[in-house]
Amino acid sequence: MKKWITKSGLEILRLAGGMSKVFAIKKENRFLLIDTGRKSSRRALLHGINRIEDSGCSLAALILTHAHYDHTANIAAILANHKVPVIINQRDAVYLESGRSASIRGTVPVIRFLVKRLEKGFQLLAQYQPVKSNLQVDDELTLETLGFEEVDLLYTPGHTMGSQSIIVDHEVALVGDTMFGIVPRSIFPPFAQDVDLLVNSWSCLLKTGCSVFLPSHGSSNAREVVEKEYRKYQIRRVL
Ligand SMILES: [Zn+2]
Repeated sequence: MKKWITKSGLEILRLAGGMSKVFAIKKENRFLLIDTGRKSSRRALLHGINRIEDSGCSLAALILTHAHYDHTANIAAILANHKVPVIINQRDAVYLESGRSASIRGTVPVIRFLVKRLEKGFQLLAQYQPVKSNLQVDDELTLETLGFEEVDLLYTPGHTMGSQSIIVDHEVALVGDTMFGIVPRSIFPPFAQDVDLLVNSWSCLLKTGCSVFLPSHGSSNAREVVEKEYRKYQIRRVL
């Protein structure tokens, strides 16, 4: 289990492997779970949660970066054994509560073409068990009521209109699909409902002061890479 530790001693653990990463933010004897991955990673995910609980920790809340099936497919399975609040941005909550995925749009012409052709099939594939959210976030929220005053939710739209990132100690950002980490030195995701909003969200993330950006797909992105990518895409938008 890969781990990052912030200056206040909060631990960020990367749980399920495979295509969609799930993270836990651990503080003393409680932890937050960020996203839930794909159905295919359910066993590995539940095993990872058990391992944390075996160390004497209890789950405090489940936070979703956005409503796509590869992040939401295991919520119901987790809630079956955990009575914890589910937190999502209000703009994506409607998808969660109907078991659908927010619509996708390719960021480059070839993917846009494929998405248009395959949209119906995607929506069928992208269904999951609907879940009621307990807390719908507008733009920003500090999680001090849950005892995690070092953790903030930041509205980072673009990939979906309700995407949010989780900022830990102004040091590590869990960014969902607002950035990718699959291609070295590139953070541009293949899908985004609004590319302008997406690039603006990178700017908001840089303003948090974070030095590490952890995407759901791929490896971590260093701040210098994000700064460089932001400058590059900002110039493209102007030209
Ligand atoms: Zn997504």
